[in-house]
Amino acid sequence: MEGMEGGEEGIGRSLGELRQTFRSGRTRSVGWRKSQLQAILKLMDENEDQICKALQQDLGKHPVEAYRDEIGVVKKSASYSLSCVGKWMAPTKGRIPLLFFPASGEVLPEPLGLALIFVSWNFPISLALDPLIGAISAGNAVVLKPSELAPACSSFLANTIPLYLDSNAIKVVEGGTDIAEQLLQQKWDKIFFTGSQRVGKIVMSAAAKHLTPVTLELGGKCPIILDSLSNPSDIKVAAKRIAGAKWGPCSGQACIAIDYVLVEHKFASTMIEYLKKTINRFYGENPKTLKNLSKIINKRQFDRLRNIIEDPAVAASIVHGGSLDEKNLIIEPTILLNPPLDSEIMTEEIFGPLLPIITLTNIQDSIEFINSRPKPLALYAFTKNEAFKQRILTETSSGSLTFNDAMLQFVCDSLPFGGVGQSGFGRYHGKYSFDTFSHEKAVLHRSFFIELEARYPPWNDFKLQF
Ligand code: NAD
Repeated sequence: MEGMEGGEEGIGRSLGELRQTFRSGRTRSVGWRKSQLQAILKLMDENEDQICKALQQDLGKHPVEAYRDEIGVVKKSASYSLSCVGKWMAPTKGRIPLLFFPASGEVLPEPLGLALIFVSWNFPISLALDPLIGAISAGNAVVLKPSELAPACSSFLANTIPLYLDSNAIKVVEGGTDIAEQLLQQKWDKIFFTGSQRVGKIVMSAAAKHLTPVTLELGGKCPIILDSLSNPSDIKVAAKRIAGAKWGPCSGQACIAIDYVLVEHKFASTMIEYLKKTINRFYGENPKTLKNLSKIINKRQFDRLRNIIEDPAVAASIVHGGSLDEKNLIIEPTILLNPPLDSEIMTEEIFGPLLPIITLTNIQDSIEFINSRPKPLALYAFTKNEAFKQRILTETSSGSLTFNDAMLQFVCDSLPFGGVGQSGFGRYHGKYSFDTFSHEKAVLHRSFFIELEARYPPWNDFKLQF
């Protein structure tokens, strides 16, 4: 078993070893890539209980959620990459101008080299292993830095990965800001970062020193446009999907969780009633015995959310929930109607189980509301109006856009996942992960046969014709 050494000297030594492995060419072979992907699948199969336990410890995640959002996501990605990696690695033909005849061209994906992956705490297993699958599929050597704020998952990864994966090519380093800063001082061939906009800026400026390409998977506010629905069964489905996406995955502590809802005045009270009923069905009616909710990650985040809803103007807008269980770090699913637009709940990413509902006279105004704020990582819209859908599609910009559901876009391997503007840049999942960790090398093959003299000086009027 071999992890990553600590301290500046230790990090330097470990990186030297990783580079040596990469230069040896071992990680480039399809055999190595497949063996590592199979090892990830084996790791997941043989450690389900341990993973569930670690997620329970760090986040109070229910095993169903642990399986759905972490174990299942990783297994799906690893299996998909395993079945496609041979095809992805193959060069593709490039069309070459006839003038160059005889010649052929190809685009050859090559690994970037040594990749650094930073992980956030909210999905500490899948957000570590999903990018790792991309880096391995593309044939890179990797350092993985889990989040120190999910310590049980971090130590699970640090202890278990070396038992299954090639330790000379893939290393895990645990630690907080100090270690992260030390890692950022090193030269990397790729940095893949999942986390906050604040730290994203630090990562990007450190990467700039070495001109290292970065992918920034950041957060922000993800709105939902909720058109006035008339059919009760549609409203019921919308309420289930909204509640499931807001409070289900990690109690709203998800980058693509619904942050706030835009709805017409006339439809707000109907929707709130449906949402309340749904919350009671999902989590129970008694705020003291709530079930199936993840906890808030730590006291600091709990206090941040408490401060948000204890602001008197915001507290006055609560129409459901609002109770806090400090001992267990649980916050009841909470709905707020028209909190002030200049309060923290509407200016910062919420990242918790609070759902502001903002009313508009006309739902068409939601487009202007969204466009006057930073571009969201995810935008959701529930509507049956095809013309309105078209407007949303063409007049707004977001990392992803989902109609009539929420969060499912994350698990579609054929769709790129990533932000735009302040919600980040770069993309991954499926083939996009492979591309993110690859360089597409342009290769032109020529022979010594046929020489076109017109391409060489001395220039004259005759050559001007070509
Ligand atoms: P964070 O930025 O605090 O931490 C992310 C990683 O950066 C951790 O590994 C951490 O150790 C490291 N880090 C912290 N300080 C650092 C520093 N000074 N220098 C270098 N590295 C440092 O983010 P978080 O609190 O773990 O996660 C929450 C944020 O992540 C939210 O904004 C959320 O929206 C976003 N997020 C985005 C995605 C996505 O896929 N787009 C997924 C999950 C979370």
